[in-house]
Amino acid sequence: MTATPDGVQVVWDPVFNRYDFGRWHPMAPIRLDLTARLCEALGLFSAPGVRVVSAQPADEALLRTVHEPEYVRAVQAASADPGSAQAVFGLGTEDDPAFPGMHEAAARIVGGSVELGRALLAGRALHGVNFCGGMHHAKPGCASGFCVYNDAAAAIRAMLDEGAERVVYVDLDCHHGDGTEAVFWDEPRVLTISVHESGTTLFPGTGFADELGGPGALGGAVNLALPAGTRDAGWLRAVHSVVPQLVESFRPDVLVTQHGCDTHALDPLGHLVVSLDAQRVAAESMHALAHSAAGGRWLALGGGGYEVVDVVPRTWAHLVAEAAHRPLDPSTPLPEGWRAHVEESVGREAPRRMTDGGSGAFQGWSSGYDPGDPVDRAILATRRAAFPLHGLDPDFD
Ligand SMILES: [Zn+2]
Ligand SMILES: [Zn+2]
Repeated sequence: MTATPDGVQVVWDPVFNRYDFGRWHPMAPIRLDLTARLCEALGLFSAPGVRVVSAQPADEALLRTVHEPEYVRAVQAASADPGSAQAVFGLGTEDDPAFPGMHEAAARIVGGSVELGRALLAGRALHGVNFCGGMHHAKPGCASGFCVYNDAAAAIRAMLDEGAERVVYVDLDCHHGDGTEAVFWDEPRVLTISVHESGTTLFPGTGFADELGGPGALGGAVNLALPAGTRDAGWLRAVHSVVPQLVESFRPDVLVTQHGCDTHALDPLGHLVVSLDAQRVAAESMHALAHSAAGGRWLALGGGGYEVVDVVPRTWAHLVAEAAHRPLDPSTPLPEGWRAHVEESVGREAPRRMTDGGSGAFQGWSSGYDPGDPVDRAILATRRAAFPLHGLDPDFD
């Protein structure tokens, strides 16, 4: 079966479960496995227009478009002999322990996201989803925050190499998208926007409003640092008060979005209080924005998300459904077969519906703002720092 130009490619193959830092690590492969099983059980992988594709590991030349050669060699060495991992490259650390096959597993995620990017540019698909990807902390010269190779950055680089003139990357993970930002810090063709929990309370401690990009690309990095405890309406208001304005002004050829779902209230690492329903609304908005401002070309990636039963599978199944133009009604019951599998394999009761009961309601910036409100203050700081560099009004839409 060949993909139609308006179709969606979704990267999945059980081989992606090999990205496995070990039993007690939060980035457990079961999060991907349960997501894929839920997509299958909901009929999303067999829906018209959807093509599920595997991927080969990216080769060294491709990895070197983003990563330093010494770092790639260090990952290969640690992958062959985990005992040789070098902390100077972020390897063998608590966050990024080395494991056999680590190089291939991480490079395969890159291979998947790059293939999607190329498919979008070549017109073989309109949307691409790689929920195994979104490894946004990986830096040119080191692993960081559970991320070995930065698939998002490699996909963006590949699209620039194949003719894209401008790309916007929107990072909705609870953590600052520091690695992807670093790769394109001085690249005027790429605008990175990260909306995250403030670095004052969460790893990696960066991503404040005054971090705006290098001298060759001032305004090319935009950061919105939200206070811990921000809830649905504040998070959605924040996303919608910076992202659409900047994307519409930048007019990219492709919109790349990272959907880390560790913003969820139940996530064990982050401190935002976002529901599945708000995450679904955000995915819907990113999809609409791709159509209104990026010729429809949309590459959606996963990211963080460590509540593996109640959060990750449902959030990313909604994402796949949205990209497949088959959005799921929040009241959709979860398939009994999937629930039974969860209960057998994890020993926990699975959720019953595709919702947390949130309304997804929020007020846009045009309704006015309250300088005494901590979320509005964070939004205003970002708008005042970044919007003038894009010819936008920082105070009013
Ligand atoms: Zn995260
Ligand atoms: Zn669409």
